[in-house]
Amino acid sequence: MTAVDRHLLRIRLAEERGRFVDIHPRSAQLAAQAKENLLTGVPMAWMTRWAGNFPLFMDSAVGARVADVDGNEYIDFALGDTGAMTGHALPFLADVLADRARHGITTMLPTEDAIWVAGELSRRFGLPLWQLALTATDANRFALRIARYLTGRPKILVFDWCYHGSVDETLVTMGPSGDTELRGSNIGAQVHPSHTTKVVQFNDIPALEAALAPGDVACVLAEPALTNIGIVLPDPGYHDALREICTRTGTLLIIDETHTISAGPGGATAAWGLQPDMLTIGKPIAGGIPAAAYGMTAEIGARLEDFFNSEGVDVSGIGGTLAGNALSVAAIRATLGHALRERDYDIAIPLAERWTDGVASVIATYALPWTVQRLGCRGEYWFCEPPRNGAQAAAAIDPELEAWFHLFMMNNGVLLTPFHNMALLSSSHVAADVDRHTATFAEAVDRILAR
Ligand code: PMP
Repeated sequence: MTAVDRHLLRIRLAEERGRFVDIHPRSAQLAAQAKENLLTGVPMAWMTRWAGNFPLFMDSAVGARVADVDGNEYIDFALGDTGAMTGHALPFLADVLADRARHGITTMLPTEDAIWVAGELSRRFGLPLWQLALTATDANRFALRIARYLTGRPKILVFDWCYHGSVDETLVTMGPSGDTELRGSNIGAQVHPSHTTKVVQFNDIPALEAALAPGDVACVLAEPALTNIGIVLPDPGYHDALREICTRTGTLLIIDETHTISAGPGGATAAWGLQPDMLTIGKPIAGGIPAAAYGMTAEIGARLEDFFNSEGVDVSGIGGTLAGNALSVAAIRATLGHALRERDYDIAIPLAERWTDGVASVIATYALPWTVQRLGCRGEYWFCEPPRNGAQAAAAIDPELEAWFHLFMMNNGVLLTPFHNMALLSSSHVAADVDRHTATFAEAVDRILAR
């Protein structure tokens, strides 16, 4: 087995930081200027978490390419952390958006597009009834509220190191004795999440069973595979057990497909035959325009009809003046009508296979104890054996090594998703893009190994 030379790694990182400054003078200037009136110098604080000494300012993004304001071009494997999973600046979407903008964006009235959208979501995910929201965070918040309303139970259950957006109840991790802890970086929590949330490890069936047995949990909110702490795949049979235990204990099962739509047009739900009671999805369904949706069974819909027909519905806690606006809905229709279809995955998934094969070949060539995972058109590498749950995945994070790969790639025209070593492949990528990543990855590895 080969090992990373940590001393050399630090030297190389410092070199790349210097190079980053040299090739991004205009971004440096804008980053300094931005600090005057933007808290943290960016419109959303997590934008500071890209590799590099300061944020890059984007000029344009088309297909699988991003260009910065210094004229550097990147092959984009981040794709807006799934928001642009279709590829950027799709011409059919641009036309629909321009047309809709000329004919009214938001009126408090439904448009005919909404009927097509709900039908298409139903066809893809198998759930008959849908509502719209603007973000996956909101779709999850609303689904949790509905689950608590229907069951009369106070708690929800999530997996350690899950991420479902900035939803209060879900910003948790598991403490040393299995208790629910506030996730470290969670600012200003309403209440301690032990009041609202139980947390178990992904793939741990006995723990799930024990947590649901008392009958105080309204729902399990689950990604089919963890994707936000790297890709953690379910063990064979895990989803069958999850479904069975939820049914037996009267707990609703909400599947969040926001990232796992990488598995195919109907996400992992269709690809693996899952049977959720509710399903949430956001990010890519409108090609990057804010839009999200949540679906439910006919039985849940029937139980909600009376409530939603009541006068209290406008302050129900499920809201969003702009939710379901004509522009977002037109964008969903255009995106699901022209992208993220079977034929698009037929291009993207083989490219992702090529990507994982490339990474695996470099790992093998250098005899590293690392691995690479894939879920449809999403790939990810690990500096360890494949983790089976969130705790193992979190323990494997190596900030220095990750910073190295992200920065070296970026300086060489390749963007990985910030926060972990993830690549998304789209029908806008071509094989040469993937091979360029493989070559750059090999070079990045070669530069930091102990000899
Ligand atoms: N669900 C999952 C699985 C996610 O990964 C995310 C964001 N990364 C969200 C929900 C929230 O999406 P948004 O920030 O667009 O609300």
